[in-house]
Order: sequence, then C-alpha cells, then structure tokens
Amino acid sequence: MMEDVAKIDLSLLAPWQKFDVTYFFVLSRLSFHLKPGVVPKRPLTELDKKNKAVDKKWLYLPQRASAEPLYLPYRHGGMNLLPLSLLADIAQMVHALRLLTSNDPSTWQLSLNTLNTVVKKKIRREVEEEDVSEYLNGSTSGVFCVKTSDTTSMWTHLRSATRRLRSKINVCWQHSEGSVSLLLDGAMVSRTQVESQLHDAVRAHYLHRLLAKPDQGKVFKVTAETSAANHFMRAGNFTRFAEWRFIHRARLGVVPLNGCRRFGMGDKRCRRCGQADETLPHVLNHCRQHFPTMTRRHNAILDRLVKAMKMPPWTTIHCNQRELGQTHLQNQEVRLAPHQWQEPHCPLNTLHHPGRVNDSTHHRQLLRTRPTAPPRHHSWNSHMGWAMVQRGKAIICNADRVGLKAAKRKVRPIRHWIQRILGLSLLPVHLVKSIWTDVLRHPPQDRGCGEYLPAMRHFVKSFEKIWLVDNVRINLWNHYDNEGCRTTNAVEGYHSMI
Ligand SMILES: [Zn+2]
Repeated sequence: MMEDVAKIDLSLLAPWQKFDVTYFFVLSRLSFHLKPGVVPKRPLTELDKKNKAVDKKWLYLPQRASAEPLYLPYRHGGMNLLPLSLLADIAQMVHALRLLTSNDPSTWQLSLNTLNTVVKKKIRREVEEEDVSEYLNGSTSGVFCVKTSDTTSMWTHLRSATRRLRSKINVCWQHSEGSVSLLLDGAMVSRTQVESQLHDAVRAHYLHRLLAKPDQGKVFKVTAETSAANHFMRAGNFTRFAEWRFIHRARLGVVPLNGCRRFGMGDKRCRRCGQADETLPHVLNHCRQHFPTMTRRHNAILDRLVKAMKMPPWTTIHCNQRELGQTHLQNQEVRLAPHQWQEPHCPLNTLHHPGRVNDSTHHRQLLRTRPTAPPRHHSWNSHMGWAMVQRGKAIICNADRVGLKAAKRKVRPIRHWIQRILGLSLLPVHLVKSIWTDVLRHPPQDRGCGEYLPAMRHFVKSFEKIWLVDNVRINLWNHYDNEGCRTTNAVEGYHSMI
C-alpha cells in the first residue's frame, strides 16, 4: 500500500483526484481487515505518516502545517480522511458493541461471559456490573491498578482503544441491567449508527482543535461555517491549479510572506508597495499595487451573484451605485431596490477580510432577512418603511400568538379589522386614541367571528398595552407627518381591494 501511495503521488492526476484515488483504491482495502478489531498498529502508523506527508504535499502545504484539515469533512474544508490508527480503534469499539448487542442471544451471552472472565482475572474477585464498565473505560485506579498476567485478548485491546479514544471524544461504556451499551456525549449509540457517529465525533474533535489554534485556525473559523465556502474540496469545481496551490496555504496562514517570518528579524516590508507589514490581509485586500486586480475580483463576484439571483420581476439590482443621501460609492455591495415599495436594501457584503471572525459575524448579520435596526446611511424613506414593516410584523405575530392565525385567513371581517389596526400609524396622532376607542377597539361581531371573540379580546388588551400606552409611545410609530412612503403592504392591499 505504501508503494501504491507513492505511485499515486508520482501520477499526473489532479490533486483532488489523488485524494479520491487514495481513499477508494488504497484505504478502502483496509476496511475489511479493520472490521474484526484486532490489528497490529505499527504498519498502520507508518502508512499514516506516509499518507500525511503526501496529503500535505497535494494540498501544497508545508510539513509544519496542521494536519487537521486532512481529517475534516468536505463541508468544513477538509479532505474527509482519518488517521488509520484511529480508524482501527473505532472499528474495535464498533465490533465489540455489535457483539455485545447482537440479535442472537447466544452470541451476546457468550461475549458477555468472556468479558466477565477477563475482568475477573484482572480484579481477582467476583465481577459486578460497575466493574465491567470501569474496565472497558480504561480505569487504572482502585482494583484496576494491579498488573495482570492475563493473555492479550480482544477485550484488553478494546480497553486500550477506548482509553485512547476517550482522550479525544466523550465516549464511555455502561453495563447495567445485564446489557452493555455505549454512550457518546451522554446519549446511547445505536449499533447500526455507531461507526458513523464515532467518525463524526472524532472529526468534530479535530475541527475544535484546529479552531483553537490562534494562528492556523483563525481563517477556518470563517470558512468552516458553511459548505458553500468549501464546494471545491471534493472535485476541484471552478478551481484552477494556481488557486488550489494558494488557497490551502492561505487558509492555514502559512503563505511565505515577509510579515509572517517565524524566525529571525528580516525585512517585513511589503515587496510590492513597501508598507510596514507584508501580511496576508495586506496582500489580499490592502496593497495599493493590487487595487486594480481587487476591483476586477470584486466585480467578478458581483457579476456572479447577480447572475445567480432569481429575483421577482419588479425588482431591480443596482451594482456599485450610489444610494440616496450617500456621498461616496458603497463598494462591495449589491443593493436590491424594489420599484413599488421602499423596503430597506439588503446589502450583500461579498468580500470580507479572510482572517477575521468579526467580519464573518458581520457578514452573517448582513445576510439576515432584515437588519435589527435601520443603518444610519439608509434614506429617510426606507427608514420609515422599515419601521412600518417591523411594526406591522410585530402586530401580526401577536395576533397569531393569541390564536387569530387561522381567523385572519378564513374570516374576512377579522382580516379587515386587523388591517385597519395596522393602518392606525397613518392617522394623525391626536386621532389615534379616539379612533381606536370608538371604532377599532370593538372586535367585529359578524358571522363566523363568534368563536374567535376571546382571542380578539386578548389581542385588543395586548395591543393597548404595547402600542397605546401614551402619546409618546404613539409618536414613536406614527407616520402621519412623514413625507415619504405612507403605506404598508397590508393597507395597500386593503385599498386595492376596495
Ligand atoms: Zn503591499
């Protein structure tokens, strides 16, 4: 197998194809041998070392780079591999669990009896259920600290494998009421899914370990968030060789730049513009010499986004254009501006600093359906539209919560009544309370409304409590004096229906 790996390394396959070939034609040959559980570890460790070295070479990483990216799943930016010695330990646990929980009573009884015998030889007294659990979990305290002259068996191997795995994941054996079970993070693991669950847990451990690294895990905090950022890992889609050579180094922060020298006090200035620190963020986003390239990159991403968007026909997309009230061009944004109704724009920040978690958080916030507060640069109209929409949504959510969700749809008078309440914000402030008290406070009594009367009364009480406390509160959401957009979707729909 070592020779096969060496031949794959020398082949003319693309790097991502080499990973595929290794996985399907070399490592899969081991899976049958690992199944019974007991395998010699030394050859596996040697093969692991060889694999790790060539895998890093195929990712164009220096040998000092972290090995964790090899062990992460594709969706987190890894190559979906695992160390073979760890796979052997997992196979050992899987095999033992399947024996101890076999559907054939004679099989699990025989397995449990042999396990009890091994434990009895170890502790030299009658075995209790807790003893079996502690033995399998690799306890070395109390009665388990004595040395034994017992021969090596599958159960002694299992004990060692469990101890090794417990240093990485929260897994333990439990023997109670005559049956043995395996707990992963406190939850019982089923015999059919044990292998995949243990693999996932180990991969999660490697991801956590990589993210905890202050230097090489910094970028992975961002890129491991979504599978879209790692779409090219499996098959190299939309990726050129030059990009493949660069991106893995960049993600681990091991690009050989002047500002990232590990030893010595050499010149740290940028080799292109002469600025103080030649770091990766500087080269990618801030170096003046690269500004034209950055602009082309930015525009290419915007074009790609626009092409991928399937927007409703009444929507126009403005790229790199000024917004009302802005004095400078808002780069790095695609703004969506519906024709008919001034809704706040949804900025899609397409470029962000590759090494900052805060940027990713900011990115996620921007991609939400609505901002939590109107940004300062929004035009006055959109601010007002935002407030009206949010208020309308809050009122409708409240109506749904008190039990009027179905009523809005089924009973027309109730629907109209709620729409009129939404329109209160367009009345003069001094009329709001009187209109509410004289007209809207009384739920409709038409046909079909009877069963919803308690819910409507509840809704009236909560509306008064939230929105009509005093005139100061009313002023906050009233838009009578505003000169811009003076409608909401609900009111507009009501008017069009009239
Ligand atoms: Zn520079």
